[in-house]
Amino acid sequence: MWWKGNSRGEFKVNSAYQLMDQTNRQTYSWPWKQIWRSKIPHKISCFIWLLAKEAALTQDNLKKRGITLCSSCFLCGEALETVNHLFLHCKYTQQLWRVFLNLKGISWTMPRKVSEALKSWEAAGVNAKDRNRWRIITASIWWTIWKERNSRCFESIENDVQKVKLNCILLLCFWCNQVYSNDTVSVIDVSCFRLNID
Ligand SMILES: [Zn+2]
Repeated sequence: MWWKGNSRGEFKVNSAYQLMDQTNRQTYSWPWKQIWRSKIPHKISCFIWLLAKEAALTQDNLKKRGITLCSSCFLCGEALETVNHLFLHCKYTQQLWRVFLNLKGISWTMPRKVSEALKSWEAAGVNAKDRNRWRIITASIWWTIWKERNSRCFESIENDVQKVKLNCILLLCFWCNQVYSNDTVSVIDVSCFRLNID
């Protein structure tokens, strides 16, 4: 018998444990860094953690608790509202993603899940000069979408997508300004599409 987990081919419990640990590390890659090391308010990190766990109170999760608000997505009206639909695949939300993808000039395949999107977005920004600013983009999109969704759900107020895009960019600028007190990005820069996300 030959045990490949050990360089001498001998079976040992600790070599079996190390082999299992390596496998777990490869398959379980939770985006904790993208959630907790992002320079955003703590309550937003908690919100993103809920999204990554697919536990935010979207309609599919409310239904599991016996509460039904509406039968379809508040933004597009075309699909059941799940975390992954609302924050990744909704055609309304996709327009916000495209703002930043176009600014950066990259193509990006939308992952299936929020937890995968956090990792994939990090990889897409690997050449960004400022990783912190790059990470804040996902938070800005998701918080803006959640606010718009709640505005439609609870106040019956709908903003058109152009206004929501601007809200998202302004939120990004606001959070960046909290981190970089001498940040030069202003509303004028935004209108000229000059965000420091390179
Ligand atoms: Zn939708």
